Amino acid sequence: MNSRELIELDSRHVWHPFSRAASDVEPVLVASARGASLTTADGRELLDGISSWWVNLFGHGHPKIVRAIAEQAGRLEQVIFAGMTHEPAIRLAAELADLLPGDLNRVFYSDDGSTAVEVAIKLAWQYWQIAGQPRRGRLLAFDGGYHGDTLGAMSAGASSGFFQAWSEQLLDVEVAPWPHTWESDDDVDGKEAAALRVIDALLDERGSEIAAAIVEPLVQGASGMRMTRPGFLRAVVDGLRDRGILVIFDEVMTGFGRTGRNFACEQIGVAPDLICLSKGLTGGFLPLGATVVSDQVFAAFRDSAPHDLFCHGHSYTANPVACAAALAALELLRLPETVAAWARIFAAHGRGLQELNGPSAGIQRARILGTIAAFDMPVADPGYHSAIGRRLSKWLRESAKAPGIFLRPLGNVVYLMPPYCMTDAQLDHAWSEISRAIQAVAPRPTPV
Ligand SMILES: *Cc1c(COP(=O)(O)O)cnc(C)c1O
Repeated sequence: MNSRELIELDSRHVWHPFSRAASDVEPVLVASARGASLTTADGRELLDGISSWWVNLFGHGHPKIVRAIAEQAGRLEQVIFAGMTHEPAIRLAAELADLLPGDLNRVFYSDDGSTAVEVAIKLAWQYWQIAGQPRRGRLLAFDGGYHGDTLGAMSAGASSGFFQAWSEQLLDVEVAPWPHTWESDDDVDGKEAAALRVIDALLDERGSEIAAAIVEPLVQGASGMRMTRPGFLRAVVDGLRDRGILVIFDEVMTGFGRTGRNFACEQIGVAPDLICLSKGLTGGFLPLGATVVSDQVFAAFRDSAPHDLFCHGHSYTANPVACAAALAALELLRLPETVAAWARIFAAHGRGLQELNGPSAGIQRARILGTIAAFDMPVADPGYHSAIGRRLSKWLRESAKAPGIFLRPLGNVVYLMPPYCMTDAQLDHAWSEISRAIQAVAPRPTPV
């Protein structure tokens, strides 16, 4: 079948996520990928500027992960994980416990980011039931938070704006303000102080009914790379701990180096009670989720009555092939080259944004955290449905000097989140083409 025929068949039978067939440009047919580059079926190269939806850390086709997967698939591809166990899952759990701060020592496996979040929420609720405090049944989330697309995760992330279709069905959660900030934001101290006052009042009123708070530490991804400062989150966690509320960090996106440290919680200086991991966990090769909980949370379940067991488990829990991929990925994570890459990418983002920020560009709210850089395009219709992002990404794909760039802006929020193997030359190329794309799709009026 040739490319045309495949795309035609796709348009007849495939339903793509977060896509509207009637208005989206047709998907790109990708044939292969290596490192930071995707190769399309018609032989063009596209730089993967967003790590294939934030999952790919060390580049596509990394031979170490490929080999680990092949070897594990040949030895043990899958086995039930209740009443059975296996070496890749055991070693991975021990590695995660070693890598994570505090006493986050107990790993519950699931399938993806959403299920890692569902597990955390269900564990938090049941924890308080076992503790004899069933009134602690509410959740606290942050304005603009996103935690996945399953029901509990959607409820926690309702304020991200993606789930209006189901607003009647979702759980009612408490929503705290999120004072997001950017470079040269003069107002950040005031915004944080105001947010902390609101949160304090909310906790004084409802704190004893709240089971857990769930937060994307340092950066809210899907709602537009909305960043906060570590000190704000430290103060929030202090307030939560004062009221005995469990702290869930959703590090599905931020985990494994994205923010310039292994985990964002290290930058904040806080070990949460539960942490949700997925996306980069396998280096972006296979779906796998992990909810890691503190010794204290686990102890409540270990010593509980038989009917208090945690009734949760997926068919592919702790799939051996996915665990083997994750073990190989963690080996790569521990290399000094990886840490050096974070600093290198951070510096390249700085260069790129500085040029964009020049007098002619007219971008807003430039911000960088580790390997993530973002800015807003000033438009009359900001938000996820803003058309400017689609126009920009189409230009970068089709009109950029080779290699083209694959980005998927969140409406008018444009961001780069490259795999750690993206070279300086590739990064500088991406930034200069982004600059040209802005001039092409949103030209500034020439001053008279
Ligand atoms: C992507 C994401 C999720 C959901 O993960 P899936 O693997 O898509 O289910 C949850 N939380 C955060 C912070 C995410 O970025």
